[in-house]
Amino acid sequence: MIPAPFRHITVETVEEALAALVEFGDEARLLAGGHSLLPLMKLRLATPAVLIDISGISGMDTVQVDGDHLLVGALTRHRTLELSDLVAREAPLLGHVAGLVGDPQVRNRGTIGGSIAHADPAADLPCALVALDGVVGLRSVTGAQREVRAEEFFTGFWSSVMEPDEMITHFRIPRTGSAGWAYEKYTARAQDWATVAVACVAGRVVLGAMSDTPLRASAVEQAIASGATAAEAALTAHEGTNPSGDLRASAEYRAHLATVLTERVLLRSGYGI
Ligand SMILES: Cc1cc2nc3c(=O)[nH]c(=O)nc-3n(C[C@H](O)[C@H](O)[C@H](O)COP(=O)(O)OP(=O)(O)OC[C@H]3O[C@@H](n4cnc5c(N)ncnc54)[C@H](O)[C@@H]3O)c2cc1C
Repeated sequence: MIPAPFRHITVETVEEALAALVEFGDEARLLAGGHSLLPLMKLRLATPAVLIDISGISGMDTVQVDGDHLLVGALTRHRTLELSDLVAREAPLLGHVAGLVGDPQVRNRGTIGGSIAHADPAADLPCALVALDGVVGLRSVTGAQREVRAEEFFTGFWSSVMEPDEMITHFRIPRTGSAGWAYEKYTARAQDWATVAVACVAGRVVLGAMSDTPLRASAVEQAIASGATAAEAALTAHEGTNPSGDLRASAEYRAHLATVLTERVLLRSGYGI
Protein backbone atom coordinates (compact mmCIF):
# COMPACT_ATOMS: atom_id res chain seq x y z
CA MET A 1 0.00 0.00 0.00
CA ILE A 2 3.00 2.32 -0.32
CA PRO A 3 3.61 3.85 -3.76
CA ALA A 4 6.97 3.58 -5.50
CA PRO A 5 9.05 6.77 -5.11
CA PHE A 6 8.00 9.61 -7.39
CA ARG A 7 8.72 13.27 -8.01
CA HIS A 8 5.86 15.75 -7.52
CA ILE A 9 5.86 18.94 -9.55
CA THR A 10 3.19 21.61 -9.54
CA VAL A 11 2.16 23.63 -12.58
CA GLU A 12 0.08 26.78 -12.77
CA THR A 13 -1.03 26.78 -16.40
CA VAL A 14 -2.24 24.33 -19.04
CA GLU A 15 0.83 25.23 -21.13
CA GLU A 16 3.18 24.27 -18.27
CA ALA A 17 1.31 21.00 -17.74
CA LEU A 18 1.52 20.06 -21.42
CA ALA A 19 5.21 21.03 -21.63
CA ALA A 20 5.92 18.82 -18.61
CA LEU A 21 4.01 15.94 -20.20
CA VAL A 22 6.29 16.18 -23.23
CA GLU A 23 9.45 16.64 -21.14
CA PHE A 24 8.86 13.58 -18.94
CA GLY A 25 7.01 11.44 -21.52
CA ASP A 26 5.93 7.95 -20.41
CA GLU A 27 7.39 8.55 -16.95
CA ALA A 28 4.79 11.19 -16.10
CA ARG A 29 1.10 11.30 -15.18
CA LEU A 30 -1.15 14.27 -14.55
CA LEU A 31 -2.49 14.51 -11.00
CA ALA A 32 -5.89 16.18 -10.47
CA GLY A 33 -7.84 14.98 -7.40
CA GLY A 34 -5.67 11.88 -7.01
CA HIS A 35 -8.61 9.66 -6.09
CA SER A 36 -8.11 7.19 -8.92
CA LEU A 37 -4.40 7.57 -9.60
CA LEU A 38 -3.11 7.37 -6.02
CA PRO A 39 -4.98 4.13 -5.21
CA LEU A 40 -3.45 2.61 -8.37
CA MET A 41 0.00 3.80 -7.28
CA LYS A 42 -0.46 2.38 -3.80
CA LEU A 43 -1.28 -0.98 -5.38
CA ARG A 44 1.72 -0.50 -7.73
CA LEU A 45 -0.58 -0.87 -10.71
CA ALA A 46 0.82 2.51 -11.77
CA THR A 47 4.39 3.59 -11.05
CA PRO A 48 4.88 7.03 -12.59
CA ALA A 49 8.24 8.61 -11.78
CA VAL A 50 6.76 12.12 -12.04
CA LEU A 51 3.37 13.47 -11.01
CA ILE A 52 2.41 16.73 -12.71
CA ASP A 53 0.01 18.32 -10.26
CA ILE A 54 -2.58 20.32 -12.22
CA SER A 55 -4.92 20.95 -9.30
CA GLY A 56 -3.65 24.54 -8.90
CA ILE A 57 -4.38 25.66 -12.47
CA SER A 58 -6.81 28.54 -12.03
CA GLY A 59 -9.98 29.02 -14.06
CA MET A 60 -10.44 25.33 -14.90
CA ASP A 61 -12.95 24.55 -12.15
CA THR A 62 -15.94 26.59 -13.23
CA VAL A 63 -19.31 25.87 -14.84
CA GLN A 64 -20.74 28.46 -17.25
CA VAL A 65 -23.48 28.74 -19.82
CA ASP A 66 -22.18 28.81 -23.38
CA GLY A 67 -25.10 29.03 -25.81
CA ASP A 68 -26.98 25.72 -25.85
CA HIS A 69 -24.33 24.09 -23.67
CA LEU A 70 -22.75 24.18 -20.27
CA LEU A 71 -19.01 24.67 -20.35
CA VAL A 72 -17.51 22.67 -17.49
CA GLY A 73 -13.82 22.99 -16.60
CA ALA A 74 -11.89 19.73 -16.30
CA LEU A 75 -10.88 20.51 -12.70
CA THR A 76 -14.47 20.94 -11.55
CA ARG A 77 -14.93 18.76 -8.51
CA HIS A 78 -17.78 16.27 -8.16
CA ARG A 79 -19.01 18.22 -5.13
CA THR A 80 -19.22 21.46 -7.14
CA LEU A 81 -21.37 19.74 -9.77
CA GLU A 82 -23.52 18.16 -7.08
CA LEU A 83 -24.23 21.51 -5.38
CA SER A 84 -24.48 23.77 -8.44
CA ASP A 85 -27.91 25.36 -8.99
CA LEU A 86 -26.92 26.05 -12.60
CA VAL A 87 -26.15 22.37 -13.22
CA ALA A 88 -29.36 21.31 -11.41
CA ARG A 89 -31.37 23.56 -13.70
CA GLU A 90 -29.62 23.02 -17.04
CA ALA A 91 -28.28 19.44 -16.90
CA PRO A 92 -29.84 17.86 -13.80
CA LEU A 93 -28.60 14.36 -14.60
CA LEU A 94 -25.00 15.58 -14.26
CA GLY A 95 -25.46 17.08 -10.80
CA HIS A 96 -27.41 14.09 -9.56
CA VAL A 97 -24.83 11.59 -10.79
CA ALA A 98 -21.91 13.61 -9.39
CA GLY A 99 -23.66 13.40 -6.01
CA LEU A 100 -23.56 9.58 -6.18
CA VAL A 101 -19.78 9.31 -6.67
CA GLY A 102 -18.14 7.68 -3.66
CA ASP A 103 -18.41 9.55 -0.35
CA PRO A 104 -18.12 13.27 0.53
CA GLN A 105 -14.32 13.06 0.84
CA VAL A 106 -14.02 11.61 -2.66
CA ARG A 107 -16.44 14.19 -4.07
CA ASN A 108 -14.55 17.05 -2.43
CA ARG A 109 -11.28 16.04 -4.14
CA GLY A 110 -12.18 14.15 -7.32
CA THR A 111 -12.63 16.05 -10.59
CA ILE A 112 -14.75 15.38 -13.65
CA GLY A 113 -11.61 15.56 -15.82
CA GLY A 114 -9.91 12.88 -13.75
CA SER A 115 -12.93 10.63 -13.83
CA ILE A 116 -13.37 10.89 -17.61
CA ALA A 117 -9.61 10.53 -18.29
CA HIS A 118 -9.47 7.45 -16.06
CA ALA A 119 -12.18 5.89 -18.28
CA ASP A 120 -13.43 3.28 -15.84
CA PRO A 121 -16.53 1.60 -17.34
CA ALA A 122 -18.00 1.22 -13.83
CA ALA A 123 -17.60 4.92 -13.00
CA ASP A 124 -20.61 7.20 -12.83
CA LEU A 125 -19.62 10.30 -14.78
CA PRO A 126 -18.53 8.56 -18.02
CA CYS A 127 -21.98 6.92 -18.25
CA ALA A 128 -23.70 10.26 -17.56
CA LEU A 129 -21.54 12.16 -20.03
CA VAL A 130 -22.37 9.75 -22.87
CA ALA A 131 -26.09 9.88 -21.97
CA LEU A 132 -25.94 13.68 -22.05
CA ASP A 133 -24.20 13.56 -25.45
CA GLY A 134 -21.42 15.64 -23.93
CA VAL A 135 -18.18 16.58 -25.63
CA VAL A 136 -14.63 16.26 -24.26
CA GLY A 137 -12.31 19.22 -24.93
CA LEU A 138 -8.65 18.28 -25.40
CA ARG A 139 -5.53 20.36 -25.88
CA SER A 140 -2.03 19.23 -26.91
CA VAL A 141 1.39 20.77 -26.45
CA THR A 142 1.37 22.06 -30.04
CA GLY A 143 -1.59 24.24 -29.02
CA ALA A 144 -3.92 22.11 -31.11
CA GLN A 145 -7.38 21.81 -29.61
CA ARG A 146 -10.07 19.30 -30.45
CA GLU A 147 -13.44 18.27 -29.17
CA VAL A 148 -14.51 14.61 -29.16
CA ARG A 149 -18.03 13.38 -28.48
CA ALA A 150 -18.07 11.39 -25.25
CA GLU A 151 -19.62 8.51 -27.19
CA GLU A 152 -16.41 8.30 -29.26
CA PHE A 153 -13.96 9.20 -26.48
CA PHE A 154 -13.87 5.88 -24.61
CA THR A 155 -12.13 3.04 -26.47
CA GLY A 156 -11.80 0.34 -23.83
CA PHE A 157 -11.13 -0.44 -20.18
CA TRP A 158 -9.19 2.54 -18.74
CA SER A 159 -8.46 3.76 -22.27
CA SER A 160 -9.58 6.54 -24.56
CA VAL A 161 -8.67 8.42 -27.73
CA MET A 162 -6.65 10.93 -25.65
CA GLU A 163 -3.03 11.05 -26.86
CA PRO A 164 -0.10 11.01 -24.41
CA ASP A 165 0.67 14.68 -25.13
CA GLU A 166 -2.94 15.80 -24.59
CA MET A 167 -4.95 16.81 -21.57
CA ILE A 168 -8.64 17.43 -21.01
CA THR A 169 -9.37 21.13 -20.53
CA HIS A 170 -13.17 21.24 -20.53
CA PHE A 171 -16.45 19.55 -21.32
CA ARG A 172 -19.33 20.89 -23.39
CA ILE A 173 -22.63 19.51 -22.13
CA PRO A 174 -26.01 20.13 -23.82
CA ARG A 175 -28.50 22.03 -21.68
CA THR A 176 -31.13 19.32 -21.41
CA GLY A 177 -33.22 21.39 -18.97
CA SER A 178 -36.60 19.82 -18.30
CA ALA A 179 -36.14 16.78 -20.59
CA GLY A 180 -36.95 13.53 -18.78
CA TRP A 181 -33.96 11.94 -17.08
CA ALA A 182 -33.07 9.27 -14.53
CA TYR A 183 -30.01 7.39 -13.27
CA GLU A 184 -29.95 4.07 -11.50
CA LYS A 185 -26.85 2.39 -10.15
CA TYR A 186 -26.75 -0.90 -8.36
CA THR A 187 -23.85 -1.20 -5.94
CA ALA A 188 -22.62 -4.17 -3.97
CA ARG A 189 -21.74 -1.85 -1.05
CA ALA A 190 -22.96 1.61 -0.09
CA GLN A 191 -20.96 4.35 -1.86
CA ASP A 192 -19.34 2.14 -4.46
CA TRP A 193 -18.63 1.93 -8.17
CA ALA A 194 -21.53 0.56 -10.18
CA THR A 195 -22.09 -3.16 -10.51
CA VAL A 196 -24.39 -1.94 -13.30
CA ALA A 197 -25.62 1.60 -13.98
CA VAL A 198 -28.16 2.96 -16.44
CA ALA A 199 -28.59 6.62 -17.39
CA CYS A 200 -31.40 8.07 -19.48
CA VAL A 201 -31.85 11.63 -20.66
CA ALA A 202 -33.92 13.01 -23.51
CA GLY A 203 -34.49 9.47 -24.82
CA ARG A 204 -30.81 8.47 -24.84
CA VAL A 205 -30.17 5.36 -22.75
CA VAL A 206 -26.63 4.40 -21.68
CA LEU A 207 -25.38 1.40 -19.73
CA GLY A 208 -22.41 1.48 -17.37
CA ALA A 209 -20.34 -1.59 -16.43
CA MET A 210 -21.96 -3.69 -19.15
CA SER A 211 -18.89 -3.53 -21.41
CA ASP A 212 -15.39 -2.02 -21.47
CA THR A 213 -16.90 1.40 -22.18
CA PRO A 214 -20.21 3.12 -21.44
CA LEU A 215 -22.60 1.75 -24.04
CA ARG A 216 -25.61 3.27 -25.83
CA ALA A 217 -28.57 0.90 -25.41
CA SER A 218 -29.63 1.38 -29.04
CA ALA A 219 -32.12 -1.50 -29.04
CA VAL A 220 -33.89 0.00 -26.02
CA GLU A 221 -34.02 3.44 -27.65
CA GLN A 222 -35.44 1.95 -30.85
CA ALA A 223 -38.01 -0.10 -28.98
CA ILE A 224 -39.24 2.99 -27.14
CA ALA A 225 -39.38 4.96 -30.39
CA SER A 226 -41.51 2.13 -31.87
CA GLY A 227 -44.02 2.37 -29.03
CA ALA A 228 -42.86 -0.47 -26.78
CA THR A 229 -43.65 -0.33 -23.08
CA ALA A 230 -40.82 0.27 -20.64
CA ALA A 231 -40.87 -3.40 -19.63
CA GLU A 232 -40.76 -4.58 -23.27
CA ALA A 233 -37.97 -2.17 -24.19
CA ALA A 234 -35.93 -3.08 -21.10
CA LEU A 235 -35.85 -6.73 -22.18
CA THR A 236 -33.51 -5.66 -25.01
CA ALA A 237 -31.07 -3.85 -22.67
CA HIS A 238 -28.46 -6.60 -22.76
CA GLU A 239 -28.26 -6.60 -26.59
CA GLY A 240 -24.75 -5.77 -27.82
CA THR A 241 -23.31 -5.77 -24.31
CA ASN A 242 -20.34 -7.76 -23.06
CA PRO A 243 -20.51 -7.73 -19.27
CA SER A 244 -17.72 -9.32 -17.28
CA GLY A 245 -18.17 -11.67 -14.35
CA ASP A 246 -16.25 -10.83 -11.20
CA LEU A 247 -16.52 -10.84 -7.40
CA ARG A 248 -19.34 -8.29 -7.53
CA ALA A 249 -21.59 -10.13 -10.00
CA SER A 250 -21.67 -12.78 -12.70
CA ALA A 251 -22.18 -11.71 -16.31
CA GLU A 252 -25.69 -13.23 -16.19
CA TYR A 253 -26.61 -11.25 -13.07
CA ARG A 254 -25.32 -8.05 -14.69
CA ALA A 255 -27.57 -8.72 -17.71
CA HIS A 256 -30.51 -9.20 -15.35
CA LEU A 257 -29.67 -5.95 -13.51
CA ALA A 258 -29.47 -4.09 -16.81
CA THR A 259 -33.06 -5.10 -17.59
CA VAL A 260 -34.39 -4.16 -14.17
CA LEU A 261 -32.57 -0.82 -13.98
CA THR A 262 -33.43 0.09 -17.57
CA GLU A 263 -37.14 -0.37 -16.94
CA ARG A 264 -36.84 1.87 -13.87
CA VAL A 265 -35.02 4.69 -15.66
CA LEU A 266 -37.44 4.57 -18.58
CA LEU A 267 -40.46 4.87 -16.31
CA ARG A 268 -38.88 7.64 -14.23
CA SER A 269 -37.85 9.54 -17.38
CA GLY A 270 -41.39 9.37 -18.72
CA TYR A 271 -40.65 7.04 -21.64
CA GLY A 272 -42.41 3.85 -22.61
CA ILE A 273 -45.12 3.98 -19.98
C1 LIG B 1 -12.93 5.44 -1.93
C2 LIG B 1 -13.25 5.83 -3.33
C3 LIG B 1 -14.54 5.64 -3.81
C4 LIG B 1 -14.86 6.01 -5.13
N1 LIG B 1 -16.11 5.79 -5.57
C5 LIG B 1 -16.44 6.11 -6.84
C6 LIG B 1 -17.77 5.89 -7.30
O1 LIG B 1 -18.67 5.45 -6.59
N2 LIG B 1 -18.03 6.22 -8.59
C7 LIG B 1 -17.07 6.75 -9.43
O2 LIG B 1 -17.37 7.04 -10.58
N3 LIG B 1 -15.82 6.98 -8.99
C8 LIG B 1 -15.48 6.68 -7.73
N4 LIG B 1 -14.20 6.92 -7.28
C9 LIG B 1 -13.23 7.56 -8.20
C10 LIG B 1 -13.34 9.08 -8.08
O3 LIG B 1 -14.50 9.52 -8.76
C11 LIG B 1 -12.15 9.83 -8.70
O4 LIG B 1 -12.17 11.13 -8.16
C12 LIG B 1 -12.14 10.02 -10.19
O5 LIG B 1 -12.31 8.79 -10.84
C13 LIG B 1 -10.79 10.56 -10.66
O6 LIG B 1 -10.74 11.94 -10.49
P1 LIG B 1 -9.45 12.59 -9.87
O7 LIG B 1 -9.58 14.06 -10.08
O8 LIG B 1 -9.31 12.12 -8.48
O9 LIG B 1 -8.30 12.05 -10.85
P2 LIG B 1 -6.81 11.56 -10.57
O10 LIG B 1 -6.81 10.37 -9.68
O11 LIG B 1 -5.96 12.70 -10.19
O12 LIG B 1 -6.43 11.11 -12.06
C14 LIG B 1 -7.04 9.99 -12.65
C15 LIG B 1 -6.44 9.79 -14.06
O13 LIG B 1 -6.82 10.86 -14.91
C16 LIG B 1 -5.69 11.57 -15.41
N5 LIG B 1 -6.10 12.98 -15.46
C17 LIG B 1 -6.59 13.70 -14.42
N6 LIG B 1 -6.99 14.91 -14.87
C18 LIG B 1 -6.74 14.94 -16.20
C19 LIG B 1 -6.93 15.92 -17.23
N7 LIG B 1 -7.48 17.12 -16.99
N8 LIG B 1 -6.57 15.61 -18.50
C20 LIG B 1 -6.04 14.39 -18.76
N9 LIG B 1 -5.81 13.43 -17.85
C21 LIG B 1 -6.16 13.71 -16.58
C22 LIG B 1 -4.56 11.24 -14.45
O14 LIG B 1 -3.30 11.35 -15.07
C23 LIG B 1 -4.90 9.81 -14.07
O15 LIG B 1 -4.47 8.94 -15.07
C24 LIG B 1 -13.85 6.60 -5.98
C25 LIG B 1 -12.57 6.80 -5.49
C26 LIG B 1 -12.25 6.43 -4.19
C27 LIG B 1 -10.86 6.66 -3.70
